[in-house]
Amino acid sequence: MKLALIGFGQAGGKIVDEFLAYDERVGDGFVQTAIAVNSATTDLHGLEHIPQDNRVLIGQARVKGHGVGADNELGAEVTEEDIDEVQGAIDKIPIHEIDAFLIVAGMGGGTGSGGAPVLATHLKRIYTQPVYGLGILPATDEGGIYTLNAARSFQTFVREVDNLLVFDNDVWRSAGETVASGYDRINQEIVERFGLLFAAGEVNQGDHVAESVVDSSEIINTLDDGVSTIGYARETVDSSSDGLLSTFRDTDEFDEGAATNRMTSLVRKAALGRLTLPCDVASADRGLVVTTGPPEHLNRKGVERGRQWLEDETGSMEIRGGDYPIPDSNEVGAIVLLSGVTDVPRVNQLQQVAIETQDRTNALQAKADEDLASLVDTGGELDALF
Ligand code: GDP
Repeated sequence: MKLALIGFGQAGGKIVDEFLAYDERVGDGFVQTAIAVNSATTDLHGLEHIPQDNRVLIGQARVKGHGVGADNELGAEVTEEDIDEVQGAIDKIPIHEIDAFLIVAGMGGGTGSGGAPVLATHLKRIYTQPVYGLGILPATDEGGIYTLNAARSFQTFVREVDNLLVFDNDVWRSAGETVASGYDRINQEIVERFGLLFAAGEVNQGDHVAESVVDSSEIINTLDDGVSTIGYARETVDSSSDGLLSTFRDTDEFDEGAATNRMTSLVRKAALGRLTLPCDVASADRGLVVTTGPPEHLNRKGVERGRQWLEDETGSMEIRGGDYPIPDSNEVGAIVLLSGVTDVPRVNQLQQVAIETQDRTNALQAKADEDLASLVDTGGELDALF
């Protein structure tokens, strides 16, 4: 499906930059336009792939290109004030050519956390295309303020978008990595999963000999509302023509049964393995199973079995399925999109920590005000200047 990607804040911009690189690599062209919005000049300069003209600096009058710190209320304010600047970049998008908007932002910071929901409200008011969010949750060790920002932004963003796809940094970090190299690797994981899903909806039926190519309307119908998460599993196969020929020679015909079994087990692995946002799979309202790989390794039976398994697992009648043929690939894979998930312990934990942080911050503020008043107070023996 064709997307207008808008990266908000530092994390959002970097991830959209990666999406562009990925899109060029896979060549199926799901990115129609990529825009970055930020209140910090240096973050915009650091991007590599997003065209200069599509980089929008907001909040210049208030923060002079230095960013909003981790103040997401300020992030929301400057976005509202400068929404015309953002609209200026959006005006250049050939809107009739896109299937949806996708706003990408780290939820724990300031600019993206505050600005992304404001932009979602704005876009929904103007356009008929769905507006999706891709929200990145902070790792638990980033501290209370990031958690509080994320919890408040999450609440607002979910309400304002048609669907919020979530990626939790906490689940994906590795011990012993520097923050920078960690993010580089994590951003690859993000782009690969969500990129595969969106690229899948962009393949033309006529392009390949495929039995049931997934279509952008199936992605849109699955992303109907609420919160979504993605699982992905893959396996190397021998797809060289030599390898295939020898498979045909050895067994006389390509082993259809083995391909079906492999697909079914990949679908299970994808759904029960590490999700971008861990949740109870049974709580999903809707789902989409996409099998990927060389066309000769994809078969209708494999998708159908995987789809049926997910239907049993979720108890949902709205599980869709399809293929994303990738000729010349040496991997087969399965992407499982779970949408409308409601049993998400991580979100409950995030909210709990956020409430505690908010209470503690308010108490500390009240105490600081009191202490300052008593420091300045002379019991009426001195008069203030004015
Ligand atoms: P903003 O520029 O004010 O919107 O804030 P940032 O985007 O810098 O940071 C917000 C949050 O995003 C942080 O708390 C991190 O959890 C996360 N983050 C920052 N950079 C990256 C990145 O490159 N990749 C990922 N996955 N997360 C990031």
